[in-house]
Amino acid sequence: MSTEGRSFKKTAAAALICAVVVFLCLNRLLPDKKAEEARGDYFFLGTVVHISVYGQGKDFLSEELAGLEAEGKRLEKLFSANIPESDVRRASDGQGKWVEVSEETYALVKRAVDLSEDTDGAFDPALGRITKLWKIGSDGARVPEEEEIRAALRCCGCKDIELKEDDGAYFIKVTGGALIDLGGIAKGRVADIMVKKLADDGIKSALIDLGGNLAVTGERPGGGKWRLGIQTPERPRGEYFGTVSVSDCSVVTSGAYERYLEKDGVRWHHIFDPSTGRPTDSDFSSVTVIDRDSTKADALSTALFVMGRDGADGYLKEHKDIAAVFLLKGEKRVLVTEAARSVFTAADASLSVGDIGGAGK
Ligand code: ADP
Ligand code: MG
Repeated sequence: MSTEGRSFKKTAAAALICAVVVFLCLNRLLPDKKAEEARGDYFFLGTVVHISVYGQGKDFLSEELAGLEAEGKRLEKLFSANIPESDVRRASDGQGKWVEVSEETYALVKRAVDLSEDTDGAFDPALGRITKLWKIGSDGARVPEEEEIRAALRCCGCKDIELKEDDGAYFIKVTGGALIDLGGIAKGRVADIMVKKLADDGIKSALIDLGGNLAVTGERPGGGKWRLGIQTPERPRGEYFGTVSVSDCSVVTSGAYERYLEKDGVRWHHIFDPSTGRPTDSDFSSVTVIDRDSTKADALSTALFVMGRDGADGYLKEHKDIAAVFLLKGEKRVLVTEAARSVFTAADASLSVGDIGGAGK
């Protein structure tokens, strides 16, 4: 081949490589204009639920939403303490008898018991007597007498829950008058199951919001991390004190501002200290846990709220991998763990950011 021919070939090859590189870069940088959105708004698990899925084809996306709604409602019928024929209610009503439940309920109760041990009882899925007594967030909410609280407390704690698996069947036995309440963990588990379904169905980008219990699949449509806001307590919904930037992750917040009863100028909220049977007098306005495992994030956000600042600091020193953000009560100050440093951004410069759990040491 002539020198001219070879040089033409080289130039053509270089141009082609450049074109491919430019195409690949643009493909990453430009939003994926073709991604369509389908959004569903529902009510289950005692909360308002929003789900957005992104991808190709309105019909496919609508079907996916319908499937997720059906799944959420199916799981509610297993996990809810407010539905008389749910697994959880049947197990609690069985008092002293082995009650057969679904594998899903067995697995979640087992996980809840493990997390209770891990948090030294700050998370207690057997405190249904206490939640039933106060009824915070529902009709009939009231401040019980000290004697009633003491009596209910005697019927709390995971010592009263037994689990067994027998030849592919699953059983729970509840004793001592205890009642199972998965209100502090069920939304996380449902989010995890939905995320798995989305992946199985080939959805690459989705946002699930189960009453502030958030989970995202993949990156946001068009690429890049999702930026999820953390609600400023006592402010209109959608006003955030900070954001977290994540992909394939869940972000769960527990706070005293969501459900409460106000009586004689005192606010009684729905997160209970299992050692007193009363709403936790926490140092925090809210606790946010950021983790791929939404079940764990849900239980831990509740438990860390109950532990308070010193308890949470001690726990986190032993669990350095936990990414969490704590808004201190009555102050414009947040504490973040080392693992949360790289994902959390304060919304305004007047918010001071400190360490917890040995971060920065
Ligand atoms: P939310 O349900 O508002 O997202 P949480 O995840 O913190 O908030 O769960 C609060 C619910 O968990 C309560 O409504 C109650 O059903 C249950 N709960 C309250 N205190 C505890 C606790 N110490 N351990 C386990 N569950 C709790
Ligand atoms: Mg929780």
